[in-house]
This record gives sequence, C-alpha cells and structure tokens, in this order.
Amino acid sequence: MVKSKPILSNDNVWVEKILRVYWLLVLMVIVGQTLGLLITVFYEPSYVETFILHKLVIPSYIQTAILLFAHYLIKVKKVYSSYFITTIGTLIALVVVAVHPNVSGLKVVFLLAMAVILIYFDKKLLRFSFAFNFITLTALYAVPDIRQYSTVYEYFSYHFVLLAGFLIYQIILDRGKEVLDFLNRAAEKEKALIVKSTVMERLSKTDLLTGLYNHKTFHEYLDFLYDQSISQAMPLQLALIDIDNFKMINDDYGHDIGDVVLKRVAHAISDQLTEDDIVARYGGEEFAVLLTNKELEEAFQIVENIRLYIASQYHEELNEHITISIGFCELTESMSKDEFFKETDELLYRAKGGGKNQVIGNQFINMKS
Ligand code: GH3
Ligand code: MG
Ligand code: MG
Repeated sequence: MVKSKPILSNDNVWVEKILRVYWLLVLMVIVGQTLGLLITVFYEPSYVETFILHKLVIPSYIQTAILLFAHYLIKVKKVYSSYFITTIGTLIALVVVAVHPNVSGLKVVFLLAMAVILIYFDKKLLRFSFAFNFITLTALYAVPDIRQYSTVYEYFSYHFVLLAGFLIYQIILDRGKEVLDFLNRAAEKEKALIVKSTVMERLSKTDLLTGLYNHKTFHEYLDFLYDQSISQAMPLQLALIDIDNFKMINDDYGHDIGDVVLKRVAHAISDQLTEDDIVARYGGEEFAVLLTNKELEEAFQIVENIRLYIASQYHEELNEHITISIGFCELTESMSKDEFFKETDELLYRAKGGGKNQVIGNQFINMKS
C-alpha cells in the first residue's frame, strides 16, 4: 500500500513562523531595555550613557544583525534548515544573557531556545540543540566579565536545569511521536476502508462477467427513473434484449466460448448507448436497457442500432454471426412500474415468436432487417 504523509503544513512554514517569533522577542527585549533606561535615568543618572551603549544600542544591533542575517538566508536564500533556526535562537539567547550577566535567572532562556525545536518532533535535532546550548552556557562562564557575577555553583545548576529540560523534552517528543503514529495508523486504516467499501459497492452493483450493472441494480434504477419520469413527465423507454439461440452456442462450442460471446455482446450494447442510459445484465443472456432524456424515435433508433450492430459482428470462435431479439416499450402515464416491465417482456416474447432478430415496440410496427 502506498504510504502517504498526513496533511500538515510543511516545515518551511514553521521556520518562517519561528523567525517571526524571534523578531517579536527581540522587540520585547528592546522595549524592556528602554524601560530599564527610564529607571536608570531616574535612579542612576550617572550610569545612563553606559546603559544606552552597552544595554541598549550594542545588544540591539547585534540581535537585529543576527535576525537580519537569518531573515536574508530564510527569505532570500530559502535556507529552511531546522538546525539553522535553532542555532539562531541560541545566539539570541546568548546576547540576552551576555548583556545582563548580573541577572542570573535569565540563563533559563537557553531552555526556551531548546524548547522551540519541539515542534519538529526530531530527537536528533533536540540532541543537537541541547549540546549547542550546553556549550554556549559553558562558554559564557569562560568570559571573566560575565563569570564575575555568578558562582561556579550557579553555573553548575544551570547546566543541570538544561539537562533536566533536555530529558523532559525527550519524553514530550516520545509522547508526541506516539500520538502521531496513532493518527497515521488511523488515517491509513480509514483510507483502506474507503477503498475497500468503494470496491465492495462497485462489486455489489455490477455483474462480474460483463461488468454491466446487475439485476438488483437495474431494479433500483428502474424504481428511481420510473418515479422521476412519472412525476416530471420525462420520457423513459425500456428495452429487454435476449440473445437468439444462445443455448445452441453453449452446446456446440462450450460454456467458455459462450462467455466470450456474452461479454462481447454486453460491450457492443453499451457502446451504442449514451451516458444517460442504463444497461444491465438482467439474466443469463438477457440484458435490460433504460433510455432516458430521449424522444421515442431517437430511443427506438438506438435500440434498432444495437440489433443491427450485433447482427453485423462476426464471431471468429463461432465462425458466424449471432442475433438478438428486443422488446421495446415507452412508459405511458397510465402504466404502473410492473406493467411497464411486463409489457416490454411480452414484446420481447413477441419478437422471439415473430422470427427473432427484431425489435418489437409498443408504439412501433415490427421492424425486421
Ligand atoms: P432463444 O432464442 O429463444 O432465446 O433461445 P435460447 O437458446 O437463447 O434460449 P434461452 O434464452 O432460454 O437460453 C439461455 C441460455 O443461456 C441457457 C444457458 O445455458 C445460457 N446461459 C445463461 N447464462 C450463461 C452464462 O453466464 N454463460 C454461458 N456461457 N451461458 C449462459
Ligand atoms: Mg434467455
Ligand atoms: Mg436466448
């Protein structure tokens, strides 16, 4: 069975969404730092110049530069790598932490940078993100200006928090994968069921040998079209077709050759019909045709053409031609459904009795080739 992916928006869409969130976060940081500037102006006026440069201008420049670079690669160069987008997240976290080394709790942003990649349900990517954030956190400790604000124990505990986050995220991915697998299996099952029920429905409606509608389906169409025709005053004609002397074909050439001829006749009949008509294998070598949307003359001509066409076909297996007899009847307002069918059957009977290879219609004089 062909396995198809479930319909989800593709990864590229998500890379762009994450990028938009990064822009928003950087904007929030700038707003936060601007508020910090106001507080500094009020409480530590002497520190304002340093604040503007080191807390506002430089970090904003660096973060904007990182994001512009990412934006360029994603939007212009179409780099949609999930590894790239997670790296960008960690770099932004790095700038945030580096600018505020004295705000110790801020180091949890590495946990958030790692959380972003959960959307990919990719454990390898999670391991990469964990390693990269872990190394970045360690590298920060190596910078003396940053290290001076925290103890080694504090760094140690942040590494531990990162590790704990990594383990928890792994469990989340396991659970996510389980749900995804379950949904995939359910979708596959549903598809298989749809295919199966479609095939079953077709099989239950058609005749295996000829591929035409079967007896039961014919009656369903007859019921429906009879009601439509009576209520909407639309023309409806019925033709019952029986192969002449078919028993002899079976007796002389065997049942298998009989089947071949039967199939050929079935195809020949449906070839002469339009999409508006219904043809069914009514019995062994009997066919029923319902003609809709046609004036009487046109419908009769179609039926007559069927007879002529079959009579003209040469069957190599038999070394001869075969013929059919047809009862043809147009529905009139006064007829019940059973009368409509019975009348057509009687006309077929008359066609047989009248010498076969002919169409006998209720509105027409007997036509014979
Ligand atoms: P008539 O001209 O009066 O119709 O004569 P006939 O020999 O065709 O007589 P009838 O219609 O009664 O015979 C039908 C024959 O069709 C009998 C049966 O052996 C044969 N038949 C019915 N179903 C099948 C089938 O699926 N395959 C084959 N090969 N023969 C079938
Ligand atoms: Mg028969
Ligand atoms: Mg027959």
